[in-house]
Amino acid sequence: MTASHNDKIRNLEDFAEIASDWFWETDADHRFTYFSNRLEDVTGISTTAMIGKRRDTIPAEDASEPKWINHMADLVAHRPFRNFEYMILRPTDQQPVWMRIAGQPQFDKNGDFLGYLGTGTDISAETVATQRLEASNAALAERNSELDEARRALEQTAYEDALTGLSNRRAFERDLEEALAVHDGNIGLLHIDLDRFKWVNDTLGHPAGDHVLMITAERLLAVMAEQGSIYRLGGDEFAGILTTNVSCALANWIGDSIVDAVSAPMDVSKRKVHVGASVGFAIAKCSETSARRLISHADVALYEAKRGGRNTVRQITPEVQAHFEDQRKLAGQIAGGLDRMEFVPFFQPQVHVETNTIIGAEALVRWQHPERGLLPPGAFLQAAADLGLSAQIDKVILDAALAAVGRLAYAGFHLPSVSVNVSEARLLDPSLCDDVKKLWTDRRCRLSIELLETIYFDDTHHGHQFDDNLGRLREMGVGIETDDFGSGRASITGLLRTSPDRLKIDRSLVQAVVADPTKRSLVSAILDMTRALGIESIAEGVETQADIDALQRIGCQMFQGYAISYPLSEADFLTYLASQSGPDFATRAPKRKRQT
Ligand code: C2E
Ligand code: CA
Ligand code: CA
Repeated sequence: MTASHNDKIRNLEDFAEIASDWFWETDADHRFTYFSNRLEDVTGISTTAMIGKRRDTIPAEDASEPKWINHMADLVAHRPFRNFEYMILRPTDQQPVWMRIAGQPQFDKNGDFLGYLGTGTDISAETVATQRLEASNAALAERNSELDEARRALEQTAYEDALTGLSNRRAFERDLEEALAVHDGNIGLLHIDLDRFKWVNDTLGHPAGDHVLMITAERLLAVMAEQGSIYRLGGDEFAGILTTNVSCALANWIGDSIVDAVSAPMDVSKRKVHVGASVGFAIAKCSETSARRLISHADVALYEAKRGGRNTVRQITPEVQAHFEDQRKLAGQIAGGLDRMEFVPFFQPQVHVETNTIIGAEALVRWQHPERGLLPPGAFLQAAADLGLSAQIDKVILDAALAAVGRLAYAGFHLPSVSVNVSEARLLDPSLCDDVKKLWTDRRCRLSIELLETIYFDDTHHGHQFDDNLGRLREMGVGIETDDFGSGRASITGLLRTSPDRLKIDRSLVQAVVADPTKRSLVSAILDMTRALGIESIAEGVETQADIDALQRIGCQMFQGYAISYPLSEADFLTYLASQSGPDFATRAPKRKRQT
């Protein structure tokens, strides 16, 4: 070693006294020739243990690691290096000591390589801390991923229906909100309800019911596979979300496929079970709807599908929905309308053609709606029935019709007969007979009730109140008329059982008599038979003189219909009666302007 070299080291050593670093030197063969004292002070490794050794032979680390290979390459190429970190085991106690070193190759003035001169720093504390941090980070990461997995599993059960494995109602709500937020274009919502599921549960037991639900889930999944996702909302209710820009045609196709799939027989409890499905379908633009709206639309569609009979698909487009909402709004106003006496009877005259006399009138309800004007029964009767308000409407009309008859009599027109329509609910109403007794004071005007045959044919659920009311009405002399006879609901046997006082021959049968000779002779035979039994017949819905003629030829004498007059308000009916004082009124009766 040259004098200048030793001087250099000594100068460095002076400096090293104030730094925590040590100096080291190697020869051309990379063996340590020198360490400053600081090495021992800082690391506890004695200099003598190191002199003469090569760095890569000090047993500690695997020298085949990339960092060692790179480092050795630097040394062989006599390149300077910095920040090489490695570990050795302290010879005294075999404790790891981490050091970070830098080295500068040294050359003589001929350019021959002499060895390296470098510094070293003890980074044990720092490395251990880093290692601990890394280890704990790794442990944390592992723990986190375990936690994540647990959470996912937990979420899965929270969003999964245990029985069928389908996503559940919570998942449905989450996915629907998400679909609406993410997509533009159309979204389709299916609401599916099984038909006859209750029957399966009640008669075959709950395990069979569960089995049916599982099979249903599989089939729904198969149909929806490509189209969207399917959910079990609970019980026998399922839902589907379609986001593939659904068209009405696609919706119909899917709806029909679902109905077909679900109604195919199922092998349950060693027997073939047939259930069916009703499907309500709502389609809307994502940007123009909300989850709440879409769900309510699909509900309405399902409700309509159920009403349409089993195995039916109903679709709700925004226009149809607007109509339903309108209907719902109207339904909500019925009770108030009853309180405000907005329901009034119109009167449609009935005539006897042979004697040319007005034999009576049928009272038909109309709703004088404050905003919508005069509404016909078709606009509100079903809603009223759904709300349980039919009986109340019938009561109001009975009351108002009899009051009107009284006023007509006061004006000099004695109506021979008035008939009111009576719903099933009204016929089961305990106050019916008392009302009739109280209100029907002028017995010169005969009172009849018109009943759809279905009311008394389907008598399984009627009981005592029904028979009691009908019996008491008969006793009081109230006429019983069979409404809509021949509209397809009545059978002759049923008719004979009920023995009404009068048949009202439905418009559809009137049309048949006019058009079809076979039907004509059939109706003619029915009329003969009923006449023999003392049952009167009146043809309703006669619109032309030809109708009247055809029926008259087979023995019908009494008529009601537009050919005679439209249903009229009380005031118009009074005018009508006043105009009918001469003979032949039936044929020359003015057809009043149609009111509804
Ligand atoms: P309905 O008892 O069969 O009454 C006859 C219906 O046929 C009436 O309809 C009447 O306006 C209509 N009509 C009369 N002549 C003709 C004709 O020549 N051609 C045609 N195409 N139709 C004719 P409206 O008033 O709309 O009543 C419909 C139904 O509503 C009634 O059928 C009846 O079932 C029910 N209804 C009416 N008023 C009441 C009521 O106060 N209580 C109950 N429960 N039901 C009522
Ligand atoms: Ca009627
Ligand atoms: Ca009728």
